[in-house]
Amino acid sequence: MQEICVVGAGFSGAVIAYRLAQQGYRVSVFDRRPHVAGNCHTERDTETGVMVHAYGPHIFHTDNERVWQFINQFTTFEPYVNRVKAVTGGRVFSLPINLLTINQFFGKVFNPQQAAEFIAALGDVSITEPKTFEEQALRFVGRELYEAFFKAYTIKQWGVHPSELPASILKRLPVRFNYDDNYFAHRFQGMPRDGYTAIAVRLLDHPNISVHLGQTFERADAAHFMQVFSSGPIDEWYNYVEGRMGYRTLDFEPIRAEGDFQGCAVMNYCDDSVPFTRMTEHKYFSPWEQHINSICYREYSRECGPGDIPYYPIRLVAEKAQLARYVSMARSEQNVTFVGRLGTYRYLDMDVTIHEALETADRFLAAQRTGILMPAFVNDPLA
Ligand code: UDP
Repeated sequence: MQEICVVGAGFSGAVIAYRLAQQGYRVSVFDRRPHVAGNCHTERDTETGVMVHAYGPHIFHTDNERVWQFINQFTTFEPYVNRVKAVTGGRVFSLPINLLTINQFFGKVFNPQQAAEFIAALGDVSITEPKTFEEQALRFVGRELYEAFFKAYTIKQWGVHPSELPASILKRLPVRFNYDDNYFAHRFQGMPRDGYTAIAVRLLDHPNISVHLGQTFERADAAHFMQVFSSGPIDEWYNYVEGRMGYRTLDFEPIRAEGDFQGCAVMNYCDDSVPFTRMTEHKYFSPWEQHINSICYREYSRECGPGDIPYYPIRLVAEKAQLARYVSMARSEQNVTFVGRLGTYRYLDMDVTIHEALETADRFLAAQRTGILMPAFVNDPLA
């Protein structure tokens, strides 16, 4: 009974298992897939030798010093800066929207101040408190840029109109009035030299940890453990009694090419005439390596059905009400804590996932010292 159970060997599960194993707990980790690292899984393509991000691109970036120090114990990060290109209306631009994008799109030679004034004049100032994705875009970049870069891409990605999505999704992307085309505004950014799966393997490589791959954890078995940390979908844990929560899943169409195919890591396709959202050329995620040939993925987004791998929680208003019902069931559990993107139904970046996993382990250790019950959630999933 002194054993801990971790469901899912992605970053949430692997970090919690590592921290608790280090403190002397015995930890059993279960994952239904045949590999660790969850959707961050990377593997070398046998034909080209390229390290492929099997479930789509993952770029590590963070402002969190603790997370950066922690993760650097398990890999060497190579310098990598994400510079995204986007095709719209038959032309190629730089993303996130920056001074080059603005000048090229409008055929101008603005300096930063002129560009900021120009874009401000395009914004719809009648929208005082943007709540939806569409309002956020119309308020801050105006209709032309919204329609060129965001509207169709977002409909393809999320399957709903941007007027039904929260502004928080667009707030992930900066708008810059200089020529900085770094997709992320974080202090630390890089790509692990030997991929993400190697990090998870090292986290789980501890005599107190046993890893059970290809095994689905049954909820009834929770009673055999002193504490369970579940990073699987919360609606699945409750057998979908409140219905399935909405997720988007992705399909990848591999394209092989001799030499170079698109010339950059990520190219977004913002028009609705192209059915995929983006194309990734994986050798560009490892710019320190040399590869003659190339493998690319075309990425298609669609509704996640039974049996599909959930990627993006949609979090429409109706789903938040459904989530609230699952959350209230979870809060009456005795020994189960829900973690990560699927356990808490939130759109989390890798660094946030790792940070929350560290916090969860800290919280468990403190609960053990003080005799307080471990909560079902360390951060409120409804917030
Ligand atoms: N987005 C868009 N056009 C783009 C890139 C992004 O409309 O060319 C929107 C889209 O709704 C996306 C969101 O901005 O889901 C956040 O983009 P991000 O690149 O963070 O998406 P991720 O890499 O997490 O899929």
